[in-house]
Amino acid sequence: DELIEDDDTPVRWFRTNMLKTNTESLLREFSHLKKVDSLKEIMSPGVIYHDEYIPNLFGIHPKEKLTSTDAYKQGRLIIQDRASCFPAQILNPVPDKDKVIDACAAPGNKTTHLASLLRNSKRSIVAFEKDNKRIKTIRMMCEKAGGLDCITIHHADFTTTRPADFPEITGMLVDPSCSGSGIFGRAFDEQEEISDEEAKEKLAERLLKLSSFQYKIVKHALSFPGVRQVVYSTCSIHDEENEGVVKKLLEDPDVQQQGWKVSNRADVLPTWPRRGHPDAFEGLSNKEELAEGCVRTIPKVDGGIGFFACSFERDQGNQGVSK
Ligand code: SAM
Repeated sequence: DELIEDDDTPVRWFRTNMLKTNTESLLREFSHLKKVDSLKEIMSPGVIYHDEYIPNLFGIHPKEKLTSTDAYKQGRLIIQDRASCFPAQILNPVPDKDKVIDACAAPGNKTTHLASLLRNSKRSIVAFEKDNKRIKTIRMMCEKAGGLDCITIHHADFTTTRPADFPEITGMLVDPSCSGSGIFGRAFDEQEEISDEEAKEKLAERLLKLSSFQYKIVKHALSFPGVRQVVYSTCSIHDEENEGVVKKLLEDPDVQQQGWKVSNRADVLPTWPRRGHPDAFEGLSNKEELAEGCVRTIPKVDGGIGFFACSFERDQGNQGVSK
């Protein structure tokens, strides 16, 4: 749910759409920009930064011309916040091998990122979206990205799907509705000002509702028989929606019986410095390790929206079919 045209954006991020071009060709269209080596050097238009964490992702000054370029209009590049690129990169599906579900897909940023990573492998992505309006947006976005050969879009509630109907699926992204508190200019600034008790109570109630839904939808994803990895993400800064949901899942006997664990830092953007909050895993013996397995971003400070992502994985021996 990213605001791509927010004036407050410290950096505008875009990635190469591998379905239509490659990074070398795309960069030729931006050869008038001077390459810089760090985010800090994006002080004014005229420069471009090649990200060190997400392959084929670039940062430019928000005032740089982008939406008026042919590359944007013709879908050779896709504007997407850096942190929002974390989930597909963490899942890192293998072309001609993996088949994946994007459980909460519209407007389709992560779906088209998956398609780019899967190099458009035929029918390799199933995307679910339940909202009547947003389903139109994702259709348009996937078409513009040239991804309709590999993406099958279902206008449906993911929680009503039957896991046994999808034995071929090996990986999943679950990026459900959240408070959006990591998106600056919106809820985040409001949260900062919350001081009175009534507002605090209201927020707690809202977070409880959201986190129950998030728990339910991820639990459903974890019950698909062939799935080896599920990446859970939010654009929330609240522990309740992030580590809190992960902790509840780890404590769930069904999830334990299915053999799921949180992936280690080594498999989750290991060089990204900002990790999860250990205290939110209080009561679990390996809380430090679990937190290390999660990634977080702080709004603006980390060059974009506030975000959380973590990966669940299980071994070949448990439940599912082999990848
Ligand atoms: N992943 C998207 C992207 O990167 O472009 C953003 C997803 S947004 C945070 C959450 C989406 O999930 C919303 O469009 C919402 O309508 C959809 N959604 C919520 N509950 C759902 C459900 N049970 N089944 C399918 N979609 C759902």
